[in-house]
Amino acid sequence: MREKTMGSKKQIKSNANVGQKRVFHEKLSPFLQQKFKFLLAEYGSLHENYLGILRQYKMLPEENIQTPEINRRHYDADISICETGGVKGVERLYRRTVVIELTMSCVAHCRYCLRQKYDLYTLTEQDIEMVARYCGSKQLKDEVNEVLITGGDPFLVPKSLAYLVESLMQYASNIKIIRVATRLPQQDPSRVSDAVLDVFRNKPGIRFEIATQTNHAVEFFSEVRDCFSRIREVVPTIYSQNVMRQCVLWVFRHIIFFMQCRCKDCAIFALV
Ligand code: SF4
Repeated sequence: MREKTMGSKKQIKSNANVGQKRVFHEKLSPFLQQKFKFLLAEYGSLHENYLGILRQYKMLPEENIQTPEINRRHYDADISICETGGVKGVERLYRRTVVIELTMSCVAHCRYCLRQKYDLYTLTEQDIEMVARYCGSKQLKDEVNEVLITGGDPFLVPKSLAYLVESLMQYASNIKIIRVATRLPQQDPSRVSDAVLDVFRNKPGIRFEIATQTNHAVEFFSEVRDCFSRIREVVPTIYSQNVMRQCVLWVFRHIIFFMQCRCKDCAIFALV
């Protein structure tokens, strides 16, 4: 796949996905481990409430079966070379949006996540400035007005997240919408710190949105709901992009819609 780059030296990493081995490394946060024990004791190993989380995170026997469509990276859309020498952590998947991968760390590994094949890194301040300048560059400023900051989980690196938001405001005035993707509220809600929430305060002219992913109603533990309530005080718009994987989200009544209502009296979530 070819993608746009900043300068005349158009060069994209090759789509070297042929022969890549799928390797899944199981990783669970202490919060999820504790919930697994609780759900197992409460419902038993065959109940959908237990399976609804287990099948998102736990290694299964069929895990490493090779299939032809396994990609090396997310649609192989990474931008690797530009005239300034490189923009690390940037993908172009959409015309009006730049995808920025701030860190590749997560507190848990989701079995279906393509990013398990990415190298582990967190962008440095120098990388971040380069990304911000790229977003505000001549080539992009009339076309791009939005970024999606993802990873990995950007909520794990609040200092870097703050620096990225400030750099975008400084170098890319065309960026008016900043979406931040996180599963930390579901995976380890106690780690959603005040430092993370401060990132979204006092940023006039920027509309923030939180993108998250809840694949089963059982994930709304009280700690998780409390965490989303805290987030919603600073970012009213929270939405969920759910994985339509048969073994994870297999009962329609558990599809979860996040209401985007700004009224503080409304419930955050509606379950149908
Ligand atoms: S939290 Fe997000 S980035 Fe991390 S493994 Fe899960 S889906 Fe992938």
